[in-house]
Amino acid sequence: MTAHPVSPNTVLANALLRTEDVLTPRILATPPTRIVLVVGTQINGAPHCGTSLVQSLAFAMAARLGDRFGIRTDVLFSALDNAPYQQTTDPLSGHRYQRAYAQAVDEQTLTGLIDALYEPLFTALSQRLGVPYDVQTYTQQQAGEHFRRTWLRLLPHLDAARWWLAPSTGTPHLRVPCPQPGCGWAEKHAERTRVHLTDPETATVAAVCLHHGPYQAAITPTAGAYLDLATLYRNLVKELALTNPQDGGTLHVMVKGGDWLFGSLLIDEALQAVGLTRAQLPARLFCPQVVTDTGAKLSKSLIREGHAALPTGAADWMLDTRQWPGNVTQYADQLLALTETMLSEPRHFFRSYSAAEIGRMMTAPAPRSISVP
Ligand SMILES: [Zn+2]
Repeated sequence: MTAHPVSPNTVLANALLRTEDVLTPRILATPPTRIVLVVGTQINGAPHCGTSLVQSLAFAMAARLGDRFGIRTDVLFSALDNAPYQQTTDPLSGHRYQRAYAQAVDEQTLTGLIDALYEPLFTALSQRLGVPYDVQTYTQQQAGEHFRRTWLRLLPHLDAARWWLAPSTGTPHLRVPCPQPGCGWAEKHAERTRVHLTDPETATVAAVCLHHGPYQAAITPTAGAYLDLATLYRNLVKELALTNPQDGGTLHVMVKGGDWLFGSLLIDEALQAVGLTRAQLPARLFCPQVVTDTGAKLSKSLIREGHAALPTGAADWMLDTRQWPGNVTQYADQLLALTETMLSEPRHFFRSYSAAEIGRMMTAPAPRSISVP
């Protein structure tokens, strides 16, 4: 047994000599002075191995791009604390409501969660590869003036993009949590949420709380309510904000799991519908997915809720990386060995891996010393 997988050729793999060349056309088209690999993760409980894999691939790819192009390359970890913490149904309207981590949990607890679940691995990866990183929560991101201005400027043009953002309804969801102290619930599908641009710098959002009835909130570039957006809508605003000329020489690369591929096509269409050219779209890197025996994405929630079984050959740590039998340095080392294998050959990167194969590669002894047959 070797740690190296056997991977079939594909059109993309066949077109590349090196995995990082998938980004070369973007880097050569507009040579950046800096590259930032952006990797976002929902903060909702313990990370699973697919999350660790995408995060370590962001660091490993950053190191490769830095070496190859001689450009300063960093990682930005976007901690999505707007992930749902609680959900309920309003008995009167029948509408679904949610309370996000950012509203349900105090800031100190949230910081503690990120410090405990992500920082140790990031610190280890960063030190091993010499790649600096930053952490930004969604709470910080949405509060930023540039993000809010980008959204306010987008509003008059949203009509052009709304069917890309919500192809079935044409209504991309926006959530502004109820401002009553200790509440923070918001209508999940925004059925009764209305946005109105009162002037170019102010939007008024009207919504209905299941406990406190109708409320209004203003959003301005520097103040106002918490602005939560449905996933595609949020990514549109985030990526529009990153293409602003003020960022000039920085190329942002969105690092995602392979399951994002199809959804990203909609975001790309939405970005172009509001005026971006192809060349202005952010670069994207889709990483290998960890899948079960059926070929479906390894899903912690499906297994936890009893809808799927733990796949053959999968270990507990794959669903909850805190169960890894070793310390965080060893975990980071094994992940880096795994990413080195995946990045060593385009055929090993542009594919999915079963949980059993990940388990085999992550626990193989001295994987770095074994050569490809
Ligand atoms: Zn309320």
